[in-house]
Amino acid sequence: EDRNPNELEFQQAVKEVLDSLIPVLVKNPTYIQQGVLERMIEPERLITFRVPWVDDNGKVNVNRGFRVQFNSALGPYKGGLRFHPSVNASIVKFLGFEQILKNSLTGQPIGGGKGGSDFDPKGKSDMEIMRFCQSFMTELSKHIGPDIDVPAGDIGVGAKEIGYMFGQYKKLKGAYEAGVLTGKGIGYGGSLGRKEATGYGTVYFVEEMMKDQGSSFDQSTVVVSGSGNVSIYAMEKAIQLGAKVVACSDSSGYIYDPNGINLDTVKQLKEVDDKRIHEYVKEHPDASFEIGCSGIWSVACDIALPCATQNELDKEAAEMLVSNGVKAVGEGANMPSTQEAIDIFLDNEVLFAPAKAANAGGVAVSALEMAQNSTRLAWTEEEVDGRLHDIMKNIYRNSLEQSKAYDAPGNFVVGANIAGFVRVADAMIEQGII
Ligand code: NDP
Repeated sequence: EDRNPNELEFQQAVKEVLDSLIPVLVKNPTYIQQGVLERMIEPERLITFRVPWVDDNGKVNVNRGFRVQFNSALGPYKGGLRFHPSVNASIVKFLGFEQILKNSLTGQPIGGGKGGSDFDPKGKSDMEIMRFCQSFMTELSKHIGPDIDVPAGDIGVGAKEIGYMFGQYKKLKGAYEAGVLTGKGIGYGGSLGRKEATGYGTVYFVEEMMKDQGSSFDQSTVVVSGSGNVSIYAMEKAIQLGAKVVACSDSSGYIYDPNGINLDTVKQLKEVDDKRIHEYVKEHPDASFEIGCSGIWSVACDIALPCATQNELDKEAAEMLVSNGVKAVGEGANMPSTQEAIDIFLDNEVLFAPAKAANAGGVAVSALEMAQNSTRLAWTEEEVDGRLHDIMKNIYRNSLEQSKAYDAPGNFVVGANIAGFVRVADAMIEQGII
């Protein structure tokens, strides 16, 4: 805390991980002797830079850009870029730290990184977004590359922004390095199935957890927060598996549809028209809209999938979900549940899938995109989805095994942290004190 004052989100993420690693450290003192923890919580590099751009009125704006290159023990730094007014050093460091362990869990050769800017894409014209992305990449390009650091999308950064950034990188380098960014458009090196990967992966993980308990998505009632990339495809897979999704949200409030959310309408509003979620009720008169996002957790459900943002599900929300009989919670977003909320789920034997395991499908398919770019081949959607499904099952099995090995069977917070940590820690030790 002394070394990172005012970085509350980063402190929260590190504390959650370190608490769960105590049994591993007790059993393997080498990790302590080799200073693995101290090294792992200190980024290899944190880059901060000025992003000047001119808006449509000719006014000069200055935003702040970040890239944290946290850990390269397993491969090039890998992690998304977030464009949102709340982005600061604490947010990118918390996300980057979690990313190290998440990427390790996927079993793929990728290190951990994260970045972004306090730029708010909401209400900006396409040309403003393009100028911002170009300015952002002008600086970022000095620090990334297919074997160095491979950014992707996150909140506020989708295929459009990745496209503008890729174009600028190509122009600056004078070379077509397809593997420098993931989440690209399908026509120029993007992977089929990437858009769906995080949401589908979250549902695949929860499905495994439920299968072990003799239940499933089929006939279940599901609530999914957010209505962005992760939420939409979590809803899609849940519906495909026979669930009824009754509520979703955006940062203004949530909709409840007793007939089951019509995903075509949500996709049209969010992916095509860039509208607010309350517009949904115009087309579906049985549905209702409530202002405020946390109210969504008062909707009774069997499965809750928080897929919006950090700390969106607190103690009161967890108590409400438990009193309404929730059976499973799967984190599609990064750190959406507060520590108190997680404790409530675990104390009440709710199946709980933590973010770094449950939402690892996005980065896993990003690594598959890198593999396709390296070989200059493009796989079919079935091939990618099949690999994603296998990766999520593996993450589930590894996390379960580690939770059993360390006397916390079925505690996936412990299991995932340990499984992710051990692979990175061993690689760091083998590579010496650097
Ligand atoms: P998007 O920008 O596509 O969507 C975010 C959604 O969350 C929007 O609907 C946004 O609404 C909504 N939202 C924001 N704050 C709140 C809030 N307080 N309450 C309710 N809704 C809110 O982002 P993604 O879907 O890509 O990312 C969502 C989460 O998933 C993030 O935590 C991200 O880090 C994580 N993640 C994403 C991956 C990916 O592949 N995209 C991979 C792994 C993790 P509004 O439009 O009003 O802002």
